[in-house]
Order: sequence, then structure tokens, then C-alpha cells
Amino acid sequence: MEEQSTFSVVLSNLIGAVFLLGGISVMLFLQISRNAALKRKVLRWSLVFMGPVVLGFFWAAGAPLPFILLAIPGCAFIAFMNLRNIRFCNACGRTLVSYSLIFRQKICASCGESLR
Ligand SMILES: [Zn+2]
Repeated sequence: MEEQSTFSVVLSNLIGAVFLLGGISVMLFLQISRNAALKRKVLRWSLVFMGPVVLGFFWAAGAPLPFILLAIPGCAFIAFMNLRNIRFCNACGRTLVSYSLIFRQKICASCGESLR
């Protein structure tokens, strides 16, 4: 097994830290804020941003090219599922997360308003 260079270790740790801090900040924001329109924008942009960050992490960590190529549709699927399953209520501003692969939430679990 080939030794990882110091540069590669520093870079992969740095990208890992960006991913963790970015992910935690976005999750906290989605839970705390009650501005549904702003949260939709933040979620979309963070998912667009996080895909390349994850792929960059794999690359910096020295993952083989076939693994990185397979990770691209994986990241796209995870982003799609997050966009589909994380919804925001326009009435009360709550973040609603569903873990179902099939069913999509139709009403807000907090106030009962229908979700568009
Ligand atoms: Zn609601």
C-alpha cells in the first residue's frame, strides 16, 4: 500500500472539516429558522455545494477513479432524496423530514397545513 502524502492528508482533513461544519450549520439553520422560502434556497445551494465537496474528499483521500466515478450518481441520488424528503411548511415554517422512499409528506406534522 502506498503511503499518503502529507498534502493529501491535510487536504482530505480540510475538506472533511468543511463538509462536517457546513453540514452541521445547514442542519442547525433548517431546524432553527422559520423562514420556509429562505430554507428552500439554503437547502438547494447546500446540496449543490456538498456533492463536489464529498467527491473532492474522496479524491484528496486517494480513492481510486472507478470509486469516485461510482460516487457521482451516489451523491446525485442522495441530493435528490434530500430535496424530495425535506420539506418546509409555508404556514408555520417548520422543517419536515420524511425517511420514506415511496411516500411524500402531504400535510405539516406540526400545524396540519397542506404542503405544496
Ligand atoms: Zn406547519
